[in-house]
Amino acid sequence: MSAAAVLGCGAAPVLRERGQREVFCGLTGIIWLHRKIQDAFFLVVGSRTCAHLIQSAAGVMIFAEPRFATAIIDERDLAGIADANDELDRVVDQLLARRPEIRLLFLVGSCPSEVIKLDLSRAAERLSATHMPQVRVLNYSGSGIETTFTQGEDACLASLVPILPREAPGAAQNLLVVGALAEVVEDQLRRLLEGLGIGGVQFGGVQFMPPRSALALPAIGPNTRYLLAQPFLADTARALEARGAVRLPAPFPLGAEGTTAWLQAAADAWGVSPERFDTVTRAPLDRARRALARHQEELAGKSVFFFPDSQLEIPLARFLAREMDMRLVEVGTPYLHRQHLAEELALLPAGTALSEGQDVDRQLDRARAAHPDLVVCGLGLANPLEAEGISTKWSIELLFTPIQGYDQAADLAELFARPLNRRLRLRV
Ligand code: SF4
Repeated sequence: MSAAAVLGCGAAPVLRERGQREVFCGLTGIIWLHRKIQDAFFLVVGSRTCAHLIQSAAGVMIFAEPRFATAIIDERDLAGIADANDELDRVVDQLLARRPEIRLLFLVGSCPSEVIKLDLSRAAERLSATHMPQVRVLNYSGSGIETTFTQGEDACLASLVPILPREAPGAAQNLLVVGALAEVVEDQLRRLLEGLGIGGVQFGGVQFMPPRSALALPAIGPNTRYLLAQPFLADTARALEARGAVRLPAPFPLGAEGTTAWLQAAADAWGVSPERFDTVTRAPLDRARRALARHQEELAGKSVFFFPDSQLEIPLARFLAREMDMRLVEVGTPYLHRQHLAEELALLPAGTALSEGQDVDRQLDRARAAHPDLVVCGLGLANPLEAEGISTKWSIELLFTPIQGYDQAADLAELFARPLNRRLRLRV
């Protein structure tokens, strides 16, 4: 155990909440995933409510024909009058005829598809057989009964694992970065990792999952070492490990410190010398530190309370406490994966109040009693808290904004500084 682990929260008690939840469902993940895999399409099999949810969440971002849609389950399907499978086949045929560029189609389950017990895995098999080899059809659930909003990405990526090709026999150790990242972030991290000399050359260097194209699926196997870029990918990690891939334990690449430690985990697995590591990372690290200094002045000493929402809470809290000198009142997370977050927990200030799961009323009571300078929470809680004079940050913004890596560290800090500045201006 490192010295940091002794000081941190690796074995700290966690308050477990099991009350009313106020979070988006897993369909939300489609908003960032559909921009990532450019020849994929997400077909939600759901109700008009599901269609409205993704439409309004994505509304501001649609600039071209979107790569998602909803096959509406209507009253006739719910009443068992129409055969939902026939309807689905018809919708998929029409879609694929209209959009010949689609190579990968995800059928995304919802609460209504679960209620009528529509077997989407069988539907995906049937449709794959019909449309092979042009299109592969996969399925996963984004239903609010089964998933919170970042779990949708986990379910989507886990559904991809079985179709990933096998690494070539005798393949060299190769690196896979797992978790959807903005392209600008992916390019920067790829440059840094390749600068360190990491990645099996025969696979074209470092691989990312999800890939930008369904035609460029990463090959995996026992020589694959993978780094998680997002902390909410428990099922995907399990599926990768079942295929022989090995996780490199690391904090997440948020902030200058997190990015360095994340790169260091890969560097250690490849035996990169400290000199080379320093040469590759020194300039971007210095740049990030300089850019962060401005926000550190604004944020230092301010208190922050995290409601459980995105599963990004613990890495964000670590960044705000250690690099921005903010005071952590409570850090809630919908689900605490102790193994994947071990390095993060070790870096949290000792004694940080941690909670797992949700009980909105009790958490609201604690937040009101503490009256923190900033609350990080879901959209539904932000308005009432703002009305009570508490500044808020919507956690969903942290999924839509490029925040990982050195060059984004200051943007990440600014996301937290902005609501505090706005309130200051309002007071003035
Ligand atoms: Fe609502 Fe469920 Fe549809 Fe999500 S999947 S929008 S929770 S009905």
